[in-house]
Amino acid sequence: MSPQPDLPDPAHHDVDSMLSRKFGREVANYFSGSTLNRVSFLRTDYSFISAALTHKSTSFLLLNDLAPLAKDPSQLAYAKHDDIKSLIGDNPFAKSEDELIKEYNSSVTLPLVLFLGIDERKQEGFEHGIYKGKPFFAVDVTPRGTVEKEASAVIEAMKAKGLQFVEGRMHMNLNAPEAAIYAHARALTDWNARNPFCAGCGQPTMSVNAGTKRVCPPTDYAALPNAQGGATSVPSTPNTRAACVTRKGITNLSFPRTDPTVIMAVVSHDGKRVLLGRQKRWPPHWYSTLAGFCEPAESVEEAVRREVWEESGVLLGRVVIHSTQPWPYPANLMIGAVGQALPDGEKIHLEYDPELEDAKWVDMDEIREALRVGTSGLGEAPGEGYKEGGLRLPPQTAIANQLLQAVSGGFLNGSTNL
Ligand SMILES: [Zn+2]
Repeated sequence: MSPQPDLPDPAHHDVDSMLSRKFGREVANYFSGSTLNRVSFLRTDYSFISAALTHKSTSFLLLNDLAPLAKDPSQLAYAKHDDIKSLIGDNPFAKSEDELIKEYNSSVTLPLVLFLGIDERKQEGFEHGIYKGKPFFAVDVTPRGTVEKEASAVIEAMKAKGLQFVEGRMHMNLNAPEAAIYAHARALTDWNARNPFCAGCGQPTMSVNAGTKRVCPPTDYAALPNAQGGATSVPSTPNTRAACVTRKGITNLSFPRTDPTVIMAVVSHDGKRVLLGRQKRWPPHWYSTLAGFCEPAESVEEAVRREVWEESGVLLGRVVIHSTQPWPYPANLMIGAVGQALPDGEKIHLEYDPELEDAKWVDMDEIREALRVGTSGLGEAPGEGYKEGGLRLPPQTAIANQLLQAVSGGFLNGSTNL
């Protein structure tokens, strides 16, 4: 089994609080716990963003097709402004957003430059008004469009330094604070890449608000094709684009998506067993908690009860929320809950929604033993002491594991500080 990364520290866990005394210690899940202050209200302040972008202490996380630049699979690597100037230009935030929108030219590729925030624990000389700290940005260096050559050159230069773009479906080996930075950068980079066109009119969109919104500009300097099919030269005045429904309202913006998902540890009415399910593609003996998407106009508690009934036939009464986990694959927020079965609702039926290959009630002792020896990433071997045929469970970086630790460790009766 590869070593498991630490989890982030819950915020202010050392401060005595009446909420902690009543509800237990806060659980911070993997991919949360960023050390950056996002100062989200400064994303439109181009004097701040410009100063942050060009400061000598500033770090740039590069993503190539969403693979992050890293020293090794546990540690990210960062570029400096000089390393990426040839791709993004000296300062893509030198003008106000209104001016940039007026200059919009859809035939020129503007690489995504995303402001992530400032690390206020690191004082390396960047100061702007009342804000101090080390700025962090992300840049999408995926070779595409009119900057394909420049992007490829940046990638090769980084590789020549002995750094790598870490591929993989999930990045669960990063140290906890950097996993949060990567999750933030990945979610927004992916959202920008998936939304090159306006949902209202189908015309190309441009990135604004330092990478966190997209706008459908009213005009375009792109050269129009001439009668022979070739492009005319860049016009001296921009072409007016077709009308768009998004330009009629107060704002002309589209916002990043976050899709709420519920994931739940379901306990029997007497609290002595936990309901687990498995999908066909998982390794033998591997089980996890049930999960599913929230639907429009549905509360989290209702989504938990519906998903559990659909997938297993089990009927739930009370549902409480335990903790949550950002999950940037691509844009989920996992809402971890604990639900208790109704006294006569524990019978398992798999025939409603055939999503699961199996679902079963497991005694708490077996859960505790599996948490001790049977956890690992999906493609990895279980821990030392695992006996073939024993229950296998997800690693501690997955919220499913945290939920199972909670219900098998005293969450149900408040006997431990989970
Ligand atoms: Zn539009």
